[in-house]
Amino acid sequence: KVVVVGSANMDLVGLAPRLPRPGETVLGDDFVMTPGGKGANQAIAAARAGGATTFLGAIGSDSFGVTLGSRLAATGVDTTHLRTSYGPSGVAVIMVDRAGENAILVSPGANRTFLGLSDEERACIADADVLLCQQEIPLATVAEALTAARAAGTRTVLNAAPAMELPPGLLEQVDLLVVNETEARAITGGQDASDMAALLALVPRVVLTLSGAGSRYADRDGQDVQVPAFAVEVADTTAAGDAFTGALAVAWAEGRDLLDAVRWANAAGAASVRKIGASNALPDRAEIEALFEG
Ligand code: ADP
Repeated sequence: KVVVVGSANMDLVGLAPRLPRPGETVLGDDFVMTPGGKGANQAIAAARAGGATTFLGAIGSDSFGVTLGSRLAATGVDTTHLRTSYGPSGVAVIMVDRAGENAILVSPGANRTFLGLSDEERACIADADVLLCQQEIPLATVAEALTAARAAGTRTVLNAAPAMELPPGLLEQVDLLVVNETEARAITGGQDASDMAALLALVPRVVLTLSGAGSRYADRDGQDVQVPAFAVEVADTTAAGDAFTGALAVAWAEGRDLLDAVRWANAAGAASVRKIGASNALPDRAEIEALFEG
């Protein structure tokens, strides 16, 4: 079982020939509205990858919140403990160009109100095999969730996205850190994203995602392995990290060896970039397996 403690946003996705520069207006192509936010996306990714998944988070009292809740539930995510707070839901304004490059603005809304875990939420975390967190909700709540998981023997995964400096102590509660190169640099404060030693000084296991080059797994037992990407045609890279991380959490919760789990997550990430969109582009287990088995 996987429990995700994180954000839910409505993604407003505009497609355009190219991304506008500051002050510029570009006439776009299609527009799509889809549930998103790193937390909800990774919960949907985990559920579609075949894991029993619970989402803990906060939606607003607007129509976006209703849509977010029902979309999560329809995907098979357990939303029993989803909070509704008075005010707007989180919203992400996303622009995608024809090359699949994107620019994203996140307005946190209800996600900002997700503070102080309830007893039910703690019980949910204690009951899970893996806790998965990101950094689109207050970091105090992330820290609380990680600590609750540690105390209960639930393995902890932090996808340290979006990139930010972290308060000291937070990473001490993390069993597995998942970062892209930008996020890795934000954590170590260094210039070199591939400085795995600097990351392993903070957490026992690290997965560095490398977009089209796949990923890299390293741990304190001395493993440091480059895991090649699956070759696919790229339509939109928006949810690649979410597809990857959700699938990784499922595979680890299922007791798979981490290196094997990373390879499987690579297949999930690759499968997601073939489609346009965020949560709607997340692959199901059959799609992941098809790519994984080759
Ligand atoms: P993020 O979106 O968080 O920056 P990445 O871009 O590194 O994350 O993508 C996450 C994972 O998705 C990668 O580790 C890789 O396995 C897969 N992936 C991303 N882009 C591609 C691509 N162009 N081809 C194949 N796999 C990809």
